[in-house]
Parts: sequence; structure tokens; C-alpha cells
Amino acid sequence: MNLIFEISNKGARCATIRKPDVKSAKINKKYARAEKPELPEVSEVDFARHYTALSRRAFGVDTGFYPLGSCTMKYNPKINEEVAALEGFTQIHPLQPEDSVQGALEVIETLGGYLAEITGMEGVTLQPNAGAHGEYTGLLLIKAYHAARGDTKRTKVIVPDSAHGTNPASAVMAGFEIINVPSDEEKGVDLEALKGVVGEDTAALMLTNPTTLGLFEKNIKEISKIIHNAGGLLYYDGANLNAVMGIVRPGDMGFDVVHLNLHKTFSTPHGGGGPGSGPVGCKKELVQFLPNPAVVKTDKGYKFDCGKKSIGKVASYYGNFGVYVRALAYITALGAEGIKSAAEHAVLNANYLKVNIEDLYPTEKGRHCMHEFVVSMQDLKDKTGVSAMDIAKTMIDRGYHPPTMYFPLIIHEALMFEPTETENKRTLDEVIAALREIYEEAFKDPEYMKAAPHHAQIGRPDEVKAARQPIVRYKKPE
Ligand SMILES: *Cc1c(COP(=O)(O)O)cnc(C)c1O
Repeated sequence: MNLIFEISNKGARCATIRKPDVKSAKINKKYARAEKPELPEVSEVDFARHYTALSRRAFGVDTGFYPLGSCTMKYNPKINEEVAALEGFTQIHPLQPEDSVQGALEVIETLGGYLAEITGMEGVTLQPNAGAHGEYTGLLLIKAYHAARGDTKRTKVIVPDSAHGTNPASAVMAGFEIINVPSDEEKGVDLEALKGVVGEDTAALMLTNPTTLGLFEKNIKEISKIIHNAGGLLYYDGANLNAVMGIVRPGDMGFDVVHLNLHKTFSTPHGGGGPGSGPVGCKKELVQFLPNPAVVKTDKGYKFDCGKKSIGKVASYYGNFGVYVRALAYITALGAEGIKSAAEHAVLNANYLKVNIEDLYPTEKGRHCMHEFVVSMQDLKDKTGVSAMDIAKTMIDRGYHPPTMYFPLIIHEALMFEPTETENKRTLDEVIAALREIYEEAFKDPEYMKAAPHHAQIGRPDEVKAARQPIVRYKKPE
């Protein structure tokens, strides 16, 4: 496909712009560019066709089933986009004085309050721009908490092997050393192993719940006791809160800090790098360390408030404001009952898909899953040579986005399905039928599957090279 620069026609225009009725300003030469920028020149019809063609090559939640485990690729109501696009929100500047942006501050304060209620926490910052950024921020709060008590020998963060990959990475960035704990036979945290590693150097335990296997950590109270008795804090990775929201609260489970992914659970479409938001909630003892500025409600309206013990700013201005608006619109529309119902449907859909394929796609035996589940295709691979990757690629040919592959690492030939709460039974039944056919196909024509996809724009790119040496800038032919 041609780039828009390649279909450029000198003099073509999409729009006619009225002559300005104000005098043009003089710009100091040192700020002016020497040459005109090279911009594509196209007519409106070429412009429309170009971007429509591009959009049709992309797969998204609006095109089809997208069960990418742990990512919560659910359908988000379009009305929330409209609310976020209201001029009163998009045309304000982050440096405007408080009294001129009371509505925006009310959004921040109200949303923070709702999220505190949903998570069972006493303070919330919305600043972090992603889940991993929230983890980093939460760990800085934990570090500040220990430091303020003069407890400086707590340098280690315990991370179970079923945690999301960002957890250990964030802990290292926050300056901690990682201690891994294995899973027990039920794929929860191995309590004996945990007792063996906690001590006076434990700063925190980071737990992803439900785990990356989509299982609820049964021993959460026991884990909480072990960590707190050792003087450590408990961190909850709540990126996938759609599994439990409205039903249980991290704060009530004994957690001290939690982050959420608004771009997964609370109605911001994501993928392709953003925008995201990873608010962090914490218990009372940690509130004083939250990032500055906080937004507080006073008798005279909403105000910024800077605490002296704060860890400081973690994002430019106030974070991704448009994401807050979507989340607030979503929570307000659903209400307490709707939030709970969304979680129930996320879990119901995952279990429905699971029980209807697990005779062929084996999963953790005898357990209900939460919002997602992981299957192991090792047995099929041993019998036919068809791998989890080949199944994923075959799904593309059938118009479905593949599930998450080869993660978590503790399961061989893993596929992680997360259907999300927004799929209906008809779609799930179609997917179940397709997955059952794909399984049969592995025995009938494994070679065909190993060469899949046969009907996609691209087949099997070199993923390592694409990640390590990405070519993201167009070079004009000489
Ligand atoms: C997605 C996810 C994260 C990371 O969130 P980002 O916004 O991608 O940084 C962390 N933990 C879990 C469990 C997740 O699913």
C-alpha cells in the first residue's frame, strides 16, 4: 500500500481555509524554520480512501472477537468517547488557574473518590499514565513509608512466579531487589516458600489477583498475615479488576497499595501504545506520600494541594485527563450494580468458553476461572506438531484475534483466553465451534496450520527483529 506521501499531488487540498482577518504576527527569525515542512498534498477523496483503507487492514475490538488474555480488550461504549470529546474538556489548558477549571477538577476528585470506594482504599492518585507506571508509583509510596519510619533495611520485593511481567520490572526500577516465590500445586503462592523468604528486609509482596492464570488467590488472608507480621506491605496488581470489581475489594483483603488500569477495566480503548492511566490507591498511612498535586474539595471549590511528604510528581501536568473522563462516564452510567454485573459477566463468559473447550484445550483441573484462563497445547503439539503459535495463527484466518501466547511462562505451549464481559453468547458459541474445528484440523492437515495465516495482510513476521530493530520512520527513496 502506498504511503500518503507517495500519493501526494502538488496543489491538491482537502479543505479551503479562509483568509485570516487578523494581521499575521512576526516570528523571530531564530525560531522560524528555514524550509517549508514537506507535507502530503491530497484531495479529500484521496485522504478519505487512504485512511479508510488503512483502518480496514487493522484488527480491533470493533471488528471482531479479541480474547487477548490479561489485556481486557473489551468493547467500550462510544458515548464515553463523546463525553471525553466535549469542548469544555478538550479546550482547557493544564496551566489554567484553578477557578477557571472547576469542572475538570471535579472530574479528578470525583473519580478518585469512586476508585477509592471500589478498591477499599483511603487515598487515590490518578497521575500514572499506565499500569506499569502505577506499579512504579505504588512502590515509591512503599519506599517512602519505610524510609519515613527509619526502616531502611527493607530492600526486597517478593514477586510470585505467576505475577504479571511488569511487576518485577517496576520493582527493579524503583530500586528494589526481587525475590521470586514459586507457585504451589494449586497454582497459588507457595506459603511454605513464602515463609522462607520473608524477613526484616522485606519491603513488600506484589500480588496479581486474579493471577495471570486467571485464578483467585485462595490464601490471601494467610499471605497478608505473613507479610504484615514481617513488617512488609502488600501490593495489589489490580490491572484486571474487571474480574472482581463490585464484589471484593483489595483494601478489605488486607492490601496496602493497589493500581488499576483505567484503559482495561474502565472504558478507554487501548492497544497501540496508549493513552492509558494507572491510578494508585493506598491506605491511610501512605496517603501523605501520594504524588503532588492532589485535588481537594474545599468550601470555596476544588483546589490543588501539595503535601510536604509527597514523593513528588510522576507525570507531566495531571496525567491523561481524557481517560479520567471516560472512566467517570462509565462508572456513573453503570452504578454500583452495573459495575458488579460487569465483573460477573466477565467471569461467566470466561467459564463458559473454558468448559466448552477444555476437553480439547486442557486447563487447570477442577477450578473455576475468573476473567481469563490458560490452556496448555503441549499434548496436541506432541501428537501433531501443531503448536500454540500455529493455533493462534489459524484463528487469524477465521477472523479472530489470537489469545495471549506463551504466557505465563509456568505453562508450556500456553494460550491465555480472556473473552471479556462484552461478548454475547452467540459470539462465544461461534468461537467455541471454530476452536473445536481448529483442533480437529491439527490432526487432518498440520502442515496447513503451520503455514497459517493464509488470508492475512502479513503472515509470520520476525517478531524479535520487529521488537529489537523496529523501523518506525519512513525513508524517502532518493
Ligand atoms: C496490563 C497489565 C499490566 C501493565 O499495564 P500497562 O498499562 O500495560 O503498563 C500490569 N499487570 C497486569 C496484571 C496487567 O494485565
